[in-house]
Amino acid sequence: MATYRPDDVVLGHRPLIVSDVDEVVLEFLTPFKLFLESRQHRLLPRSFRLTGNIVDLQNGEAASEAAVKALLDAFYAAQEQWQRPAALVVNMLAELSAEADIVFLTAMPPRHAAVRRALLDALGLPYPLFASEEPKGPLVERLHGARELPVVFIDDILRNLHSVRDYAPSCLLINLMANAEFRALAPVPDMGIHTVADWADAARLIRAHFGRSTASR
Ligand SMILES: [Mg+2]
Repeated sequence: MATYRPDDVVLGHRPLIVSDVDEVVLEFLTPFKLFLESRQHRLLPRSFRLTGNIVDLQNGEAASEAAVKALLDAFYAAQEQWQRPAALVVNMLAELSAEADIVFLTAMPPRHAAVRRALLDALGLPYPLFASEEPKGPLVERLHGARELPVVFIDDILRNLHSVRDYAPSCLLINLMANAEFRALAPVPDMGIHTVADWADAARLIRAHFGRSTASR
């Protein structure tokens, strides 16, 4: 069933893993670069942002903010033709789902959620999805509430990790970014945010967190 709002998710009495989708569960930058090339544009790894770094190959100029938005919209509409799972994610989440609830929290406009749901299902990633452009901290707080159970949040963008830290202070915060080229340009996370290279690393940290939380209860 398609689930697009946090209030629709029913959690078991067990740990919760909330994960971003783009660049964490699904590759985003690698296929978006290929998509841009197919539209006579190029993403240059000059800094850690899209706007200003997407160049129109016909005139060599940076695409405007409106043009970048339109390109992103077209990419999301056709995402099933372009996006693939990040390395190891399908197996790692299948294993973790034996001991934790998994929820996907995607910052994509909700109008693209049905296409994303179908793509995730086809790839063997059947976990509940909700799409919202609101800050992620309050959304995680609404999901997890006051439950005394371990909670984990995984995202490639520090702003989202900081938002969750503010609203769910007990949350294990993991910074995972699939694209190595842009990972090298990303700002360095501050204390309390764990950077991992891939999903095998993430799964090790998550299991250690679950073990610690069980021991301390
Ligand atoms: Mg992301």
